[in-house]
Amino acid sequence: MRITVLAGGIGAARFLTGLRTLGHNITVIGNNGDDVTMYGLRICPDLDTVMYTLGGGISAERGWGREDETFRVRDDIGAYVAASGTDDLPSWFGLGDLDLATHLVRAHWLAEGLPLSTVTARLCARWETGVRLMPSTDDPVETHVTLADGERVHFQEWWVRLHASVPANAIELFGAADAQPAPGVVDAIADADVVLLPPSNPVVSVGTILAIKGIREAVVATAAPVVGVSPIIGGAPVRGMADACLAAIGVETSAYAVARHYGDLLDGWLVDESDKADADRLAGDGLAARAVPLWMSDIDATARIADAALTLAADVRK
Ligand code: GDP
Ligand code: CA
Repeated sequence: MRITVLAGGIGAARFLTGLRTLGHNITVIGNNGDDVTMYGLRICPDLDTVMYTLGGGISAERGWGREDETFRVRDDIGAYVAASGTDDLPSWFGLGDLDLATHLVRAHWLAEGLPLSTVTARLCARWETGVRLMPSTDDPVETHVTLADGERVHFQEWWVRLHASVPANAIELFGAADAQPAPGVVDAIADADVVLLPPSNPVVSVGTILAIKGIREAVVATAAPVVGVSPIIGGAPVRGMADACLAAIGVETSAYAVARHYGDLLDGWLVDESDKADADRLAGDGLAARAVPLWMSDIDATARIADAALTLAADVRK
């Protein structure tokens, strides 16, 4: 089967390791909302998390960045920060030495005029990911967060530097109005046998992919069943701070509310076995929802989640 997945970072990457064991033809549309320019280098954290994870190069301990990483460059930048007395260098962002190689190579190819989609395919050639990974768009976009005091900051500043400890009033994908889906993205959704929303952040991962003009429309229009996996279990985001993002857009942190937020995009929704009441409530609302274990504790458990999503897709297709 041709399966197209709208992917964020860590949650999506873990899900994909399980899905990949089932042996289908997988296309991954990656989130560009996290993209940021630092030291003149364009950094695409979610694309890299998917690439490193599926390529076997991810740091198992951190879940982002490279295994066997060192941070000598970042620490040396810290010496400039300390000596200069300025805080305008983003030394809080964890750019490892091996990771920097990816960003340097990406910057080189982008400077040659290659679109991000081509650059991403070239970077992936080394990693043998077993999937086709493409950015949501070749155009520059990035998520901006409006803080309670009205200040607007880049998503990374809010998420990494401030640990989302300051409430956000609004979250939006800057540049979305002028961005086109990357080549192949709309076709990958239209021609898929199944479209999956992995357990990714509904706001700053899946939401920012859907914010690119034409992508949401393609997901609504595709003949393929669209099935999502809840990133919320028992009213909590499992890992990370997705609740802070949901609060910013006025959506409750529950498996039920996230499904309702996706609305008519979904044909099916998986919730954790502990959230069976949410599944029943959604079924009452007319959405095919099923409760199964959703903890991606190891690759076998994750493969079972992916398999349950495909089974639900087959059932709603009938
Ligand atoms: P990010 O871009 O690195 O934040 O990663 P994603 O957006 O792809 O996924 C992050 C989300 O994955 C988190 O907000 C969690 O809600 C969800 N998540 C993480 N681990 C699990 C898990 O084991 N099971 C489920 N159902 N969701 C998970
Ligand atoms: Ca992300």
